[in-house]
Amino acid sequence: MSQHPHTRTALVIGGGIAGACTAIALHRAGIEATVYEAYDSSADGVGGSLSLAPNGLGALDTLGVGDAVRAIGSPVPAIVLRSWNGRQLAEFGTPAGIAPMRLVWRADLNRALHDHALRQGAAFAHGKRFVRAEESGTGVTAHFADGSSAGADLLIGADGIRSTVRTAIDPDAPQPQYAGLVSFGARVSGSALAPTNGKFLMSFGKRAFLGWHVDNDGTAVWFANLPRPAPGPSTAEMRATSPAQWLDILADAFAEDRNPALELLHGTDPEALLIPGAMESMPRVPVWHRGRMVLLGDAAHAASSSSGQGASLAAESAVQLARCLRDLPPEQALTAYEELRRPRVERIIKAAARTNSDKAAGPVGRVLRDALMPLAMKLVKPEKTAWQYDYRIDWSEPVAALSRTRG
Ligand SMILES: Cc1cc2nc3c(=O)[nH]c(=O)nc-3n(C[C@H](O)[C@H](O)[C@H](O)COP(=O)(O)OP(=O)(O)OC[C@H]3O[C@@H](n4cnc5c(N)ncnc54)[C@H](O)[C@@H]3O)c2cc1C
Repeated sequence: MSQHPHTRTALVIGGGIAGACTAIALHRAGIEATVYEAYDSSADGVGGSLSLAPNGLGALDTLGVGDAVRAIGSPVPAIVLRSWNGRQLAEFGTPAGIAPMRLVWRADLNRALHDHALRQGAAFAHGKRFVRAEESGTGVTAHFADGSSAGADLLIGADGIRSTVRTAIDPDAPQPQYAGLVSFGARVSGSALAPTNGKFLMSFGKRAFLGWHVDNDGTAVWFANLPRPAPGPSTAEMRATSPAQWLDILADAFAEDRNPALELLHGTDPEALLIPGAMESMPRVPVWHRGRMVLLGDAAHAASSSSGQGASLAAESAVQLARCLRDLPPEQALTAYEELRRPRVERIIKAAARTNSDKAAGPVGRVLRDALMPLAMKLVKPEKTAWQYDYRIDWSEPVAALSRTRG
């Protein structure tokens, strides 16, 4: 392993959006990266649609993949919130002068990032489930469930909200908590629904939450969140109900609402129903790095899906970590990375934290929410949210060492 003061090689654990962005960013910084993914193939088939905020697209531009991602996404100029009866509660978009968010199919985004990382020379190893690590002072060795191991100067945990690297860094690290909702989604081609003019519509139904977007050609994407009591169903329990039965359960939950849920559900092929299952929220992660190991993406800073910022923050963190490793020896680089990232990600996570409880509101909460939200939204000046979206990391600017080091 290298005695070079700066990082030359890195193991990236997890081949999702954060892992692929990290591999690309490390390559830009001159660091050789190998991505170790637990599953046998990349995460192409997983997940529904997600939004990329302009700040995330800015980070992807730095990685040289922004245009490829724009090409697979549709611009979303606004998100409209409605009550169960169709009444508009709020409409918000990016402030004037800032490009709109983009809606992308998560599998398409994964593929674009993965292909770009491969073209840049990153290596991907599949079927490698990280189980533990050993540090030597100048490097780190990762051990995988198949009995194999790999070594490098640094190990980066991009292994998602249920991160194993997080516990390897800090055995007392918090665990994700069930957020009271289970989630579903699908893409429906050739629907007869009216196009949503680029907007993403969301409806706080009486018994479930719906989001949908319809392109001019009738292609619709939708997701639904269904409240379920704690501790929330396990994956096995979710699978015990067939997709066709879930579609019926959802149709029943939306039966009284004035939104297009029933058309969307009837147009969904049960085989194509995505069932991500129990939604989780992640408490603050107090330790992001130890020795030669560090966290990135949902492993460090999982934002609620309502923030629309999870993938964007992962891309930003990848750029920032690579800059720090480019300019500083590993331990100083990890301290600088945390100092540069933590205040921003925690501010965004906090701003989004309330929305999940709004979605799971009971009848009284629902009435209050519907009464107060239009008022609250009038008080939110769009320009006050600009800090989230107009954030850019200057790749060419050198990172200075920070004085504070961890104990
Ligand atoms: C329902 C839902 C909706 C969302 N909507 C949005 C949205 O609209 N906008 C947005 O920006 N974000 C959204 N997100 C969040 C977004 O998907 C994530 O923030 C983003 O993908 C970054 O995730 P990640 O790469 O850190 O983790 P993940 O995508 O979870 O990837 C982690 C990878 O690590 C692998 N892995 C796990 N453990 C191990 C191990 N031990 N060894 C090796 N590999 C391992 C996993 O198989 C996986 O491939 C949503 C998330 C969910 C669940």
